[in-house]
Amino acid sequence: MSILSVKNLSKSFGKLEVLNDISFNVEKGEVISIIGPSGSGKSTLLRCINQFEKIDSGECEICGITMTRNDENGKAVYADNKTLHDIRLKIGLVFQNFNLFPHMSVLKNITEAPVHVLKQDKMQAEQTAMELLGKMGLADKANEYPCNLSGGQQQRVSIARALALSPELLFFDEPTSALDPELTGEILKVIKSLAEEKMTMVIVTHEMQFASEISDRVIFMDGGYVIENGTPDEVFNNSQNERTRQFLERYH
Ligand code: ADP
Ligand code: MG
Repeated sequence: MSILSVKNLSKSFGKLEVLNDISFNVEKGEVISIIGPSGSGKSTLLRCINQFEKIDSGECEICGITMTRNDENGKAVYADNKTLHDIRLKIGLVFQNFNLFPHMSVLKNITEAPVHVLKQDKMQAEQTAMELLGKMGLADKANEYPCNLSGGQQQRVSIARALALSPELLFFDEPTSALDPELTGEILKVIKSLAEEKMTMVIVTHEMQFASEISDRVIFMDGGYVIENGTPDEVFNNSQNERTRQFLERYH
């Protein structure tokens, strides 16, 4: 069963067609990297899948649940709010800018949703949070506030926060692009260890070497289109597509 299935998804902002007929699947345990130039629609795609942005048409299924489908006129119809709420609890999101709650300690950032949304026992949630922080090498930072952490540490907290909900699927939108090169490595290492544990992930990234090492498949987007969807070897080493080759040349 596909954990994520996107079919013929299209989205415009006014006259600007940002996503054109996007289709792809993600199977359980797969790691998919999405690469492409700035402005090609990568963030909008993740936002549309997560319904932070409305689509014009297309189908999206997450964990076997229909989140959008087309009506008889080809316009998107959405699942109800309860379904969306339930699905959001199965999805983790990690953004470029960490998006931690600034007025909450690291521990509270991680336990907030498990305790208040999932109604987990507070002690239990804190124990899980401490285990996750340990895994991220941040056990000693539980009582700090986000502003006292480096960017790399904040990003590891935001990954721990996402993992605290035991997600079926994790999305990353350029998780390292706000970080100095020396802090980028620590985040890539964490994501790599999640890949080894067979976490299902969709990762928008400009780190080509990393994408090539950890991905089962790589999607190249340009101008709102999926230009390629293949193995790292197919996309990075054997692409016959001129746009892909031009894009990748910039990274050599
Ligand atoms: P990427 O993440 O690949 O850099 P984005 O998805 O952020 O690309 O943007 C794709 C295109 O959509 C860009 O031309 C961008 O300017 C436009 N865009 C994104 N968000 C909005 C918005 N809220 N309103 C209007 N245009 C937008
Ligand atoms: Mg983006």
